[in-house]
Amino acid sequence: MKAHLRPDPAVLLIAPGIIKWTDLDFGLPHLVSMGGYVQHHTGVRVELLDLNYEGGDHRQLARTLDELGPYLIIGISCFSSYDFMRTMALAAFVKELYPDVPLVTGGYHASALPTDLIYDGSPFDTAIVGEGELPLLGLVRQLLGGQAITRGIIGPNAIENLDDLPPYQWQLLARYWPRAHQIGRKFQIYLSRGCTYKCTFCMERAKTEYRWRAYSPERAIDELERLSKVTDLSRWVVNLADPLFGYKRSWRRQVLRGVIDKGLLPRQYWTLTRSDDLQDEDVELLAKARFSIGIGVESGSPEMLKIMRKTAVPDRYLSQLMQLGQLSRKHGLSWAGNVIVGHPGETQETMRQTHAFLKELFTTAKETCGWLSIDPFRLYPGAQVHEQMADWQREHGAVFHHPTWWQSWYDGALRAELVDPSHSLDFEGRVRFMYDHYEPLLGEVAKRFRGQGRDVDKVFLRSIENEQRQLSPRARDQLLARAKQARRQPTAPSGSPTSDKSGYLGHGPSPANLPLPIGLHVKDPWVRQREMAVRRVLAAGIVRGERLIEALLQVGPERFMAEDVAKAMLDDRPVWPEREGAAPQTVGVSTIAMALEALTPDGGERAADLCAVTGYVAALLAELVGPTGEVVAHHPGGWLSARSLSRQLTAWPQIRVIRGDPTLAIRGYAMDVGFLGAALPRLSTPQREALMAEQGRAVLALGPRFAKQDLVLVHGTADSCQEKPLARVRLPVLTGKAGWLRGQPQVG
Ligand code: SF4
Repeated sequence: MKAHLRPDPAVLLIAPGIIKWTDLDFGLPHLVSMGGYVQHHTGVRVELLDLNYEGGDHRQLARTLDELGPYLIIGISCFSSYDFMRTMALAAFVKELYPDVPLVTGGYHASALPTDLIYDGSPFDTAIVGEGELPLLGLVRQLLGGQAITRGIIGPNAIENLDDLPPYQWQLLARYWPRAHQIGRKFQIYLSRGCTYKCTFCMERAKTEYRWRAYSPERAIDELERLSKVTDLSRWVVNLADPLFGYKRSWRRQVLRGVIDKGLLPRQYWTLTRSDDLQDEDVELLAKARFSIGIGVESGSPEMLKIMRKTAVPDRYLSQLMQLGQLSRKHGLSWAGNVIVGHPGETQETMRQTHAFLKELFTTAKETCGWLSIDPFRLYPGAQVHEQMADWQREHGAVFHHPTWWQSWYDGALRAELVDPSHSLDFEGRVRFMYDHYEPLLGEVAKRFRGQGRDVDKVFLRSIENEQRQLSPRARDQLLARAKQARRQPTAPSGSPTSDKSGYLGHGPSPANLPLPIGLHVKDPWVRQREMAVRRVLAAGIVRGERLIEALLQVGPERFMAEDVAKAMLDDRPVWPEREGAAPQTVGVSTIAMALEALTPDGGERAADLCAVTGYVAALLAELVGPTGEVVAHHPGGWLSARSLSRQLTAWPQIRVIRGDPTLAIRGYAMDVGFLGAALPRLSTPQREALMAEQGRAVLALGPRFAKQDLVLVHGTADSCQEKPLARVRLPVLTGKAGWLRGQPQVG
């Protein structure tokens, strides 16, 4: 590490980034507020890192951390449960780099399940429950006073009066402003906090503040005015990310009038609110202030609205929604109705009631200014449903198939919705109803959608059409197939179980089991695809070694093969050669990962890609054995293609391309580890002898020509070869002296 340019240690706050690569939010108002508060009260230097906006990989991140240091304390936000695995991976990474700097976390997930983040062996020293300003200030003051910080779980300790907070310090995002518009679409800011309602599915209550608190209307307008001086508002959709915007009527109207009077008009404001108290005047003001609003309709069934604790008076609630439909047409206010399908307690009958209500709400008039957003019920830590799962099971027959879904790298969102809602409705019944009934309804809504006569209408229409596509019969069948697979793979937590107030057995993951990927280079689709593939093999337990994960993330297969072939390989779809017997370009990433995990090539070893058509596996091996190792790329084609392969691999000088029959490979050169990505009838005598002579290890598929084969790890010793089966696979067979087909080897 180089010498630091700055002498004063900083408070560093990191947002780990989310698994979403379009329409990114920008702003991090929670971290800007916390950082600004601590800076205001102590004068300490504060740095913010938003990993959605950082380029490069984890090595680049290490360099950035080095440049911004030294540090007094580092905070990593575990904002939602979807961030959990990424937060833990990042925490282990940061702790290894800065073992002496206290590491703290907070956010919704940390508030709901702090024992997920604080346990013996956790990289975190402290987890903050609830809002962060006051507890973080306390920790920083301890450090500045020369004390050790309070370890374990601290909070809640919320700010009573939001006007006590200093103004948002947007300059803390200075490193991102120059390119914020290129990536971000929505700018986030909070004007209020908390919610007085207690909807059963909502994780807002995790923050433990049931009171609604807002900046005074004057201060709220002042914050928007200051923001308009930092950035051109007309380029942004400004997301007022409050849990419940404008709960108090007088506040709401004063703020909206202030926005109109001062001309603080972005491309669009977006916010979430309730329809209970929206009168003609409110809808008119919202439309004039260039707002679009999201309304949590949740259900059209009076019974479900009560079960969800959305309202105690469902009839009035539903009639107010009908009124909003009319008023929005009158004033030209765009709005979205968010609906939850399959909340515990749901039945076919309640789903039918909701569908009938929505049909009436959106399609009885010729035009609509509203559109529908249909979501499955998802189990969120901190929500009442999560805290009382056993009660929901007992009273309604709900079954939660993945109660710790956030401990899955790959398909957390699917696992979160894998719930049987009631005795009479299972997951499949819910999915079929949702897809089969709402796809046509969304089509009708799209035909009637009027919008506000501005260019932003296109965005809303696209979102309806997108939603309709996501509910296609094909998407439904894919979801059901994935769900079937996920049911067979329980979310397998690691570490020592600890219980919290909900009775949930938290399982602090061992950082050693959670190496990178961090996946920072959000704009490169190939990096994303590699990261998704790595998450899949991690989630399936195929890969554990950090160096292999790094190599899989580092080496882009699209450099070695046609893009459609690379994509199929990363998706684990079979890529068969055009002629039977020809050497395949590649096999699926799971097979490659399984083979390399079993071989565990060490730095400095001699490795061989025994059927090197594209050179991708040879490049992975070169990354694994490092610059002091040697790699043979055994090419089955002619001189010309071998020469072109050599040119392809010049970035790895330790790779040597040789030509020959892959069915006889492992002969004629020294080798510690080798992989043959194709199937042979059996291990040939020359191969066996070569492995024994070198005491080497090889992975290859052995078995029938027209059915599944065994992928085996063969370990040569002085007097025998031990075969260890790894998995059943179906790989292409080879032409060659010891192959399934006789003749000259060919490339497919
Ligand atoms: S869903 Fe909305 S109204 Fe209900 S508790 Fe959450 S924030 Fe409040």
